[in-house]
Amino acid sequence: MTGNQNCVDELLGSSLSSDPRDLWGTVVAVQANFYQVKLDRNQPVQFLLCTRRSLLKKIGQKVMVGDRVLVEEPDWQDGRGAIARVESRSTELQRPPVANADLILLVFALSEPTLDPWQLSRFLVKAESTALKLCLCLNKCDLITPEQQQQWQQRLSAWGYDPSYISVAQDIGIDELLSRLAGKITVVAGPSGVGKSSLIDALIPNLKLRIGEVSGKLQRGRHTTRHVELFELPEGGLLADSPGFNQPDLDCLPSHLAQYFPEARARLHQANCQFSNCSHRDEPNCVVRGEWERYEYYLDFLTQAIAHQTALQQQPDAESSLKLKVKRSGKSQYEPKLQTKKYRRTSRNVNQQNLQDIYAKQLEEEIEDQQ
Ligand code: GDP
Repeated sequence: MTGNQNCVDELLGSSLSSDPRDLWGTVVAVQANFYQVKLDRNQPVQFLLCTRRSLLKKIGQKVMVGDRVLVEEPDWQDGRGAIARVESRSTELQRPPVANADLILLVFALSEPTLDPWQLSRFLVKAESTALKLCLCLNKCDLITPEQQQQWQQRLSAWGYDPSYISVAQDIGIDELLSRLAGKITVVAGPSGVGKSSLIDALIPNLKLRIGEVSGKLQRGRHTTRHVELFELPEGGLLADSPGFNQPDLDCLPSHLAQYFPEARARLHQANCQFSNCSHRDEPNCVVRGEWERYEYYLDFLTQAIAHQTALQQQPDAESSLKLKVKRSGKSQYEPKLQTKKYRRTSRNVNQQNLQDIYAKQLEEEIEDQQ
Protein backbone atom coordinates (compact mmCIF):
# COMPACT_ATOMS: atom_id res chain seq x y z
CA MET A 1 0.00 0.00 0.00
CA THR A 2 1.37 3.47 -0.83
CA GLY A 3 1.82 6.29 1.68
CA ASN A 4 -0.54 8.38 -0.38
CA GLN A 5 -3.11 5.61 -0.15
CA ASN A 6 -2.85 5.65 3.67
CA CYS A 7 -3.61 9.38 3.73
CA VAL A 8 -6.57 8.86 1.44
CA ASP A 9 -7.93 6.10 3.68
CA GLU A 10 -7.59 8.36 6.72
CA LEU A 11 -9.46 11.16 4.99
CA LEU A 12 -12.24 8.93 3.81
CA GLY A 13 -12.47 6.76 6.91
CA SER A 14 -10.50 3.53 7.02
CA SER A 15 -13.35 1.04 7.18
CA LEU A 16 -14.86 0.63 3.77
CA SER A 17 -18.59 0.38 3.84
CA SER A 18 -20.07 -3.04 3.17
CA ASP A 19 -23.69 -2.04 2.61
CA PRO A 20 -25.03 -4.61 0.14
CA ARG A 21 -26.67 -1.77 -1.82
CA ASP A 22 -23.26 -0.22 -2.49
CA LEU A 23 -22.15 -0.33 -6.08
CA TRP A 24 -18.61 -1.70 -6.24
CA GLY A 25 -16.75 -2.33 -9.43
CA THR A 26 -13.36 -2.46 -11.12
CA VAL A 27 -11.94 0.22 -13.41
CA VAL A 28 -11.24 -1.48 -16.73
CA ALA A 29 -10.23 1.53 -18.86
CA VAL A 30 -9.14 5.12 -18.31
CA GLN A 31 -9.13 7.89 -20.86
CA ALA A 32 -8.82 11.58 -20.09
CA ASN A 33 -11.00 12.10 -16.99
CA PHE A 34 -13.37 9.22 -17.68
CA TYR A 35 -13.26 5.78 -16.14
CA GLN A 36 -14.99 2.71 -17.54
CA VAL A 37 -16.15 0.70 -14.50
CA LYS A 38 -17.26 -2.91 -14.66
CA LEU A 39 -19.77 -3.44 -11.86
CA ASP A 40 -19.42 -6.50 -9.60
CA ARG A 41 -23.04 -7.57 -9.55
CA ASN A 42 -25.68 -7.80 -12.18
CA GLN A 43 -27.22 -4.36 -12.47
CA PRO A 44 -29.37 -2.83 -15.21
CA VAL A 45 -26.07 -2.36 -17.08
CA GLN A 46 -22.67 -4.02 -16.62
CA PHE A 47 -20.48 -1.00 -17.35
CA LEU A 48 -20.74 2.63 -16.25
CA LEU A 49 -18.72 5.49 -17.68
CA CYS A 50 -17.72 7.44 -14.58
CA THR A 51 -16.15 10.70 -13.54
CA ARG A 52 -14.22 11.15 -10.31
CA ARG A 53 -15.84 12.89 -7.35
CA SER A 54 -14.37 16.33 -6.67
CA LEU A 55 -13.26 15.30 -3.17
CA LEU A 56 -11.06 12.63 -4.74
CA LYS A 57 -9.60 15.25 -7.09
CA LYS A 58 -8.94 17.63 -4.19
CA ILE A 59 -7.03 15.04 -2.16
CA GLY A 60 -5.10 14.00 -5.26
CA GLN A 61 -6.50 10.46 -5.32
CA LYS A 62 -5.68 9.05 -8.71
CA VAL A 63 -7.80 6.34 -10.28
CA MET A 64 -6.01 3.61 -12.19
CA VAL A 65 -7.06 0.68 -14.30
CA GLY A 66 -7.58 -2.24 -11.89
CA ASP A 67 -8.74 -0.03 -9.02
CA ARG A 68 -11.67 -1.25 -6.93
CA VAL A 69 -14.08 1.66 -6.72
CA LEU A 70 -17.36 2.64 -5.11
CA VAL A 71 -19.74 4.21 -7.61
CA GLU A 72 -22.48 6.65 -6.68
CA GLU A 73 -25.38 8.32 -8.48
CA PRO A 74 -25.73 5.75 -11.22
CA ASP A 75 -27.64 6.98 -14.25
CA TRP A 76 -28.72 3.62 -15.67
CA GLN A 77 -30.28 5.17 -18.74
CA ASP A 78 -27.13 6.97 -19.90
CA GLY A 79 -24.75 4.46 -18.36
CA ARG A 80 -23.00 7.11 -16.22
CA GLY A 81 -21.86 7.35 -12.61
CA ALA A 82 -19.37 8.99 -10.25
CA ILE A 83 -16.49 7.31 -8.42
CA ALA A 84 -16.75 8.22 -4.75
CA ARG A 85 -14.06 6.03 -3.22
CA VAL A 86 -11.02 3.98 -4.22
CA GLU A 87 -10.08 0.90 -2.22
CA SER A 88 -6.47 0.52 -1.02
CA ARG A 89 -4.32 -1.12 -3.68
CA SER A 90 -2.64 -4.46 -3.10
CA THR A 91 -0.11 -3.73 -5.87
CA GLU A 92 0.63 -0.80 -8.15
CA LEU A 93 2.56 -1.01 -11.41
CA GLN A 94 3.75 2.16 -13.14
CA ARG A 95 4.49 0.74 -16.56
CA PRO A 96 1.93 -0.24 -17.62
CA PRO A 97 -0.13 1.68 -15.03
CA VAL A 98 -2.26 -1.06 -13.41
CA ALA A 99 -3.51 -1.38 -9.82
CA ASN A 100 -4.15 -4.66 -7.99
CA ALA A 101 -2.51 -6.88 -10.61
CA ASP A 102 -1.72 -10.38 -9.27
CA LEU A 103 0.36 -11.85 -12.03
CA ILE A 104 2.79 -10.95 -14.81
CA LEU A 105 2.42 -13.22 -17.80
CA LEU A 106 5.83 -12.98 -19.45
CA VAL A 107 5.71 -14.25 -23.03
CA PHE A 108 8.79 -15.10 -25.11
CA ALA A 109 9.12 -17.19 -28.27
CA LEU A 110 11.37 -20.25 -28.48
CA SER A 111 12.11 -19.35 -32.08
CA GLU A 112 11.30 -16.60 -34.61
CA PRO A 113 12.60 -14.44 -33.00
CA THR A 114 15.46 -16.48 -31.53
CA LEU A 115 15.20 -16.74 -27.75
CA ASP A 116 17.89 -14.40 -26.43
CA PRO A 117 18.86 -15.34 -22.83
CA TRP A 118 20.16 -11.82 -22.07
CA GLN A 119 16.91 -10.15 -23.16
CA LEU A 120 14.85 -12.81 -21.36
CA SER A 121 16.87 -12.18 -18.19
CA ARG A 122 16.24 -8.46 -18.42
CA PHE A 123 12.49 -9.03 -18.54
CA LEU A 124 12.73 -11.61 -15.75
CA VAL A 125 14.63 -9.19 -13.51
CA LYS A 126 12.07 -6.47 -14.20
CA ALA A 127 9.21 -8.86 -13.39
CA GLU A 128 10.98 -10.07 -10.22
CA SER A 129 11.36 -6.46 -9.07
CA THR A 130 7.57 -6.07 -8.80
CA ALA A 131 5.51 -7.56 -5.98
CA LEU A 132 3.65 -9.67 -8.56
CA LYS A 133 3.79 -13.40 -9.17
CA LEU A 134 5.39 -14.45 -12.43
CA CYS A 135 4.14 -16.89 -15.06
CA LEU A 136 6.71 -17.47 -17.80
CA CYS A 137 5.31 -18.76 -21.10
CA LEU A 138 7.50 -19.84 -23.98
CA ASN A 139 5.48 -19.72 -27.18
CA LYS A 140 6.00 -21.24 -30.64
CA CYS A 141 7.06 -24.62 -29.24
CA ASP A 142 5.86 -25.98 -32.61
CA LEU A 143 8.99 -24.47 -34.19
CA ILE A 144 11.56 -26.42 -32.15
CA THR A 145 12.32 -30.12 -31.65
CA PRO A 146 11.49 -31.96 -28.40
CA GLU A 147 15.28 -32.21 -27.78
CA GLN A 148 15.70 -28.45 -28.11
CA GLN A 149 12.76 -27.93 -25.75
CA GLN A 150 14.38 -30.25 -23.22
CA GLN A 151 17.63 -28.29 -23.43
CA TRP A 152 15.77 -25.08 -22.65
CA GLN A 153 13.94 -26.80 -19.84
CA GLN A 154 17.22 -27.85 -18.21
CA ARG A 155 18.84 -24.49 -18.74
CA LEU A 156 15.92 -22.51 -17.32
CA SER A 157 15.55 -24.91 -14.43
CA ALA A 158 19.17 -24.04 -13.47
CA TRP A 159 18.11 -20.38 -13.55
CA GLY A 160 15.25 -21.25 -11.16
CA TYR A 161 12.34 -21.19 -13.61
CA ASP A 162 9.80 -23.74 -14.78
CA PRO A 163 8.08 -22.15 -17.79
CA SER A 164 4.98 -23.31 -19.67
CA TYR A 165 5.73 -24.38 -23.22
CA ILE A 166 2.87 -23.32 -25.45
CA SER A 167 1.95 -22.90 -29.09
CA VAL A 168 -0.81 -20.52 -29.98
CA ALA A 169 -0.67 -21.72 -33.59
CA GLN A 170 -1.25 -25.36 -32.60
CA ASP A 171 -3.40 -24.72 -29.52
CA ILE A 172 -0.91 -26.32 -27.13
CA GLY A 173 -1.07 -25.33 -23.44
CA ILE A 174 -3.73 -22.62 -23.88
CA ASP A 175 -6.43 -24.26 -21.71
CA GLU A 176 -3.96 -24.87 -18.86
CA LEU A 177 -2.89 -21.25 -19.09
CA LEU A 178 -6.51 -20.06 -18.96
CA SER A 179 -7.09 -21.92 -15.72
CA ARG A 180 -3.92 -20.42 -14.20
CA LEU A 181 -5.23 -16.92 -14.99
CA ALA A 182 -8.78 -17.50 -13.70
CA GLY A 183 -9.89 -14.99 -11.08
CA LYS A 184 -6.66 -12.95 -11.30
CA ILE A 185 -5.67 -9.60 -12.78
CA THR A 186 -2.84 -10.41 -15.18
CA VAL A 187 -0.50 -8.09 -17.04
CA VAL A 188 0.96 -9.44 -20.28
CA ALA A 189 4.58 -8.50 -21.00
CA GLY A 190 7.24 -9.49 -23.50
CA PRO A 191 9.03 -8.22 -26.58
CA SER A 192 7.27 -7.79 -29.90
CA GLY A 193 6.92 -10.64 -32.35
CA VAL A 194 6.70 -13.40 -29.74
CA GLY A 195 2.95 -13.92 -30.19
CA LYS A 196 1.39 -11.82 -27.40
CA SER A 197 -1.46 -10.50 -29.55
CA SER A 198 -2.10 -13.98 -30.96
CA LEU A 199 -2.14 -15.38 -27.42
CA ILE A 200 -4.55 -12.72 -26.16
CA ASP A 201 -6.84 -13.43 -29.12
CA ALA A 202 -6.71 -17.15 -28.26
CA LEU A 203 -7.42 -16.53 -24.57
CA ILE A 204 -10.27 -14.12 -25.22
CA PRO A 205 -12.35 -15.17 -28.23
CA ASN A 206 -13.96 -12.32 -30.17
CA LEU A 207 -11.78 -9.79 -28.39
CA LYS A 208 -11.62 -7.51 -31.42
CA LEU A 209 -15.40 -7.39 -31.58
CA ARG A 210 -15.67 -6.76 -27.86
CA ILE A 211 -13.09 -3.98 -27.94
CA GLY A 212 -15.48 -2.15 -30.26
CA GLU A 213 -18.54 -2.84 -28.12
CA VAL A 214 -17.15 -2.17 -24.67
CA SER A 215 -14.59 0.53 -25.21
CA GLY A 216 -16.67 2.53 -27.64
CA LYS A 217 -15.14 5.93 -27.76
CA LEU A 218 -12.35 5.00 -25.38
CA GLN A 219 -10.97 2.97 -28.24
CA ARG A 220 -9.58 6.00 -30.04
CA GLY A 221 -6.49 6.18 -27.88
CA ARG A 222 -5.92 2.44 -27.59
CA HIS A 223 -2.57 2.28 -29.29
CA THR A 224 -0.83 5.07 -27.47
CA THR A 225 1.83 4.02 -24.98
CA ARG A 226 0.05 5.30 -21.88
CA HIS A 227 -3.15 3.47 -22.65
CA VAL A 228 -3.96 0.24 -20.86
CA GLU A 229 -7.21 -1.65 -20.73
CA LEU A 230 -8.46 -4.74 -18.88
CA PHE A 231 -10.39 -7.46 -20.69
CA GLU A 232 -12.46 -10.19 -19.13
CA LEU A 233 -11.23 -13.75 -19.48
CA PRO A 234 -13.84 -16.42 -20.27
CA GLU A 235 -13.12 -18.31 -17.02
CA GLY A 236 -13.09 -15.13 -14.91
CA GLY A 237 -10.20 -12.78 -14.26
CA LEU A 238 -8.96 -9.79 -16.19
CA LEU A 239 -6.11 -9.37 -18.65
CA ALA A 240 -4.27 -6.10 -19.25
CA ASP A 241 -3.60 -5.46 -22.89
CA SER A 242 -0.76 -2.95 -23.02
CA PRO A 243 1.71 -2.01 -25.74
CA GLY A 244 4.82 -4.21 -25.77
CA PHE A 245 8.33 -2.88 -25.34
CA ASN A 246 11.57 -4.59 -26.25
CA GLN A 247 13.84 -3.56 -23.44
CA PRO A 248 12.61 -2.74 -19.94
CA ASP A 249 14.58 -0.17 -17.88
CA LEU A 250 16.86 -1.40 -15.14
CA ASP A 251 15.78 1.16 -12.60
CA CYS A 252 15.96 -0.98 -9.46
CA LEU A 253 18.32 -0.23 -6.58
CA PRO A 254 21.71 -1.85 -7.26
CA SER A 255 21.66 -3.36 -3.76
CA HIS A 256 18.38 -5.17 -4.57
CA LEU A 257 19.50 -6.65 -7.88
CA ALA A 258 20.86 -9.95 -6.55
CA GLN A 259 17.45 -10.70 -5.04
CA TYR A 260 15.95 -10.67 -8.56
CA PHE A 261 18.10 -13.64 -9.66
CA PRO A 262 16.76 -16.90 -8.14
CA GLU A 263 20.28 -18.40 -8.40
CA ALA A 264 21.75 -15.58 -6.28
CA ARG A 265 18.80 -15.70 -3.89
CA ALA A 266 19.40 -19.41 -3.28
CA ARG A 267 23.09 -18.78 -2.57
CA LEU A 268 22.28 -15.96 -0.15
CA HIS A 269 19.71 -18.19 1.53
CA GLN A 270 22.39 -20.78 2.31
CA ALA A 271 25.23 -18.51 3.43
CA ASN A 272 26.16 -14.86 4.04
CA CYS A 273 28.74 -12.70 2.34
CA GLN A 274 31.48 -11.27 4.58
CA PHE A 275 30.19 -7.72 4.02
CA SER A 276 26.52 -6.96 4.55
CA ASN A 277 26.65 -4.39 1.72
CA CYS A 278 28.50 -6.74 -0.66
CA SER A 279 27.87 -5.85 -4.30
CA HIS A 280 28.91 -9.39 -5.27
CA ARG A 281 31.57 -8.13 -7.69
CA ASP A 282 35.05 -8.34 -6.23
CA GLU A 283 34.63 -8.28 -2.47
CA PRO A 284 36.38 -11.08 -0.52
CA ASN A 285 34.31 -14.00 0.76
CA CYS A 286 31.30 -13.27 -1.45
CA VAL A 287 28.88 -16.20 -1.68
CA VAL A 288 27.11 -14.96 -4.81
CA ARG A 289 30.11 -14.67 -7.14
CA GLY A 290 30.72 -17.97 -8.85
CA GLU A 291 30.17 -20.38 -11.66
CA TRP A 292 26.52 -19.86 -12.45
CA GLU A 293 25.46 -19.11 -16.03
CA ARG A 294 23.84 -15.75 -15.49
CA TYR A 295 26.49 -14.29 -13.15
CA GLU A 296 27.85 -12.30 -16.13
CA TYR A 297 24.36 -10.87 -16.69
CA TYR A 298 24.20 -9.92 -13.03
CA LEU A 299 27.44 -7.93 -13.41
CA ASP A 300 26.20 -6.28 -16.60
CA PHE A 301 22.82 -5.33 -15.10
CA LEU A 302 24.54 -4.11 -11.91
CA THR A 303 26.63 -1.66 -13.94
CA GLN A 304 23.46 -0.39 -15.62
CA ALA A 305 21.52 -0.12 -12.36
CA ILE A 306 24.41 1.84 -10.77
CA ALA A 307 24.56 4.16 -13.81
CA HIS A 308 20.80 4.73 -13.54
CA GLN A 309 21.04 5.59 -9.83
CA THR A 310 23.99 7.91 -10.41
CA ALA A 311 22.11 9.74 -13.17
CA LEU A 312 19.10 10.15 -10.85
CA GLN A 313 21.21 11.49 -7.99
CA GLN A 314 22.93 14.00 -10.24
CA GLN A 315 19.64 15.43 -11.44
CA PRO A 316 17.52 15.95 -8.32
CA ASP A 317 15.86 19.02 -9.83
CA ALA A 318 15.31 17.30 -13.13
CA GLU A 319 13.01 14.86 -11.38
CA SER A 320 10.81 17.58 -9.92
CA SER A 321 10.67 20.28 -12.58
CA LEU A 322 11.76 18.55 -15.78
CA LYS A 323 10.38 15.62 -17.63
CA LEU A 324 12.27 13.19 -19.82
CA LYS A 325 10.95 13.28 -23.38
CA VAL A 326 11.83 10.53 -25.79
CA LYS A 327 11.70 11.81 -29.36
CA ARG A 328 10.73 9.71 -32.35
CA SER A 329 14.39 9.58 -33.34
CA GLY A 330 15.02 7.65 -30.12
CA LYS A 331 16.98 10.56 -28.59
CA SER A 332 15.89 11.59 -25.12
CA GLN A 333 16.15 14.97 -23.45
CA TYR A 334 14.84 16.73 -20.34
CA GLU A 335 12.24 19.45 -20.91
CA PRO A 336 10.47 21.71 -18.39
CA LYS A 337 7.15 20.34 -17.19
CA LEU A 338 4.29 22.52 -18.41
CA GLN A 339 2.27 24.03 -15.59
CA THR A 340 -0.24 25.96 -17.69
CA LYS A 341 -3.03 23.40 -17.49
CA LYS A 342 -3.04 23.72 -13.71
CA TYR A 343 -4.41 27.26 -14.01
CA ARG A 344 -6.68 26.75 -17.00
CA ARG A 345 -10.32 27.50 -16.11
CA THR A 346 -12.75 24.68 -16.91
CA SER A 347 -15.19 25.72 -19.58
CA ARG A 348 -18.78 26.06 -18.40
CA ASN A 349 -19.88 23.83 -21.23
CA VAL A 350 -17.42 21.09 -20.51
CA ASN A 351 -20.03 18.72 -19.12
CA GLN A 352 -22.11 18.94 -22.24
CA GLN A 353 -19.11 18.74 -24.51
CA ASN A 354 -19.12 15.87 -26.86
CA LEU A 355 -17.03 13.03 -25.36
CA GLN A 356 -15.46 12.49 -28.72
CA ASP A 357 -13.78 15.93 -28.53
CA ILE A 358 -12.32 15.15 -25.14
CA TYR A 359 -10.88 11.85 -26.29
CA ALA A 360 -9.54 13.45 -29.45
CA LYS A 361 -7.81 16.14 -27.36
CA GLN A 362 -6.26 13.52 -25.10
CA LEU A 363 -5.12 11.55 -28.10
CA GLU A 364 -3.47 14.64 -29.59
CA GLU A 365 -1.65 15.26 -26.31
CA GLU A 366 -0.42 11.70 -26.21
CA ILE A 367 0.80 11.87 -29.79
CA GLU A 368 2.49 15.22 -28.99
CA ASP A 369 4.17 13.60 -26.00
CA GLN A 370 5.55 10.84 -28.15
CA GLN A 371 7.09 13.22 -30.69
P1 GDP B 1 3.29 -9.82 -30.72
O1 GDP B 1 4.10 -8.76 -31.43
O2 GDP B 1 4.03 -10.35 -29.55
O3 GDP B 1 1.91 -9.38 -30.39
O4 GDP B 1 3.21 -11.06 -31.74
P2 GDP B 1 2.03 -11.48 -32.75
O5 GDP B 1 0.88 -12.08 -32.01
O6 GDP B 1 1.77 -10.36 -33.65
O7 GDP B 1 2.74 -12.68 -33.53
C1 GDP B 1 3.92 -12.52 -34.30
C2 GDP B 1 3.96 -13.60 -35.36
O8 GDP B 1 4.13 -14.87 -34.74
C3 GDP B 1 2.68 -13.70 -36.18
O9 GDP B 1 3.04 -13.92 -37.52
C4 GDP B 1 1.96 -14.93 -35.60
O10 GDP B 1 1.14 -15.55 -36.55
C5 GDP B 1 3.14 -15.79 -35.22
N1 GDP B 1 2.83 -16.74 -34.14
C6 GDP B 1 2.17 -16.47 -32.99
N2 GDP B 1 2.08 -17.58 -32.22
C7 GDP B 1 2.69 -18.58 -32.90
C8 GDP B 1 2.95 -19.97 -32.62
O11 GDP B 1 2.56 -20.55 -31.60
N3 GDP B 1 3.68 -20.65 -33.57
C9 GDP B 1 4.11 -20.07 -34.71
N4 GDP B 1 4.79 -20.83 -35.56
N5 GDP B 1 3.87 -18.78 -35.01
C10 GDP B 1 3.19 -18.03 -34.11
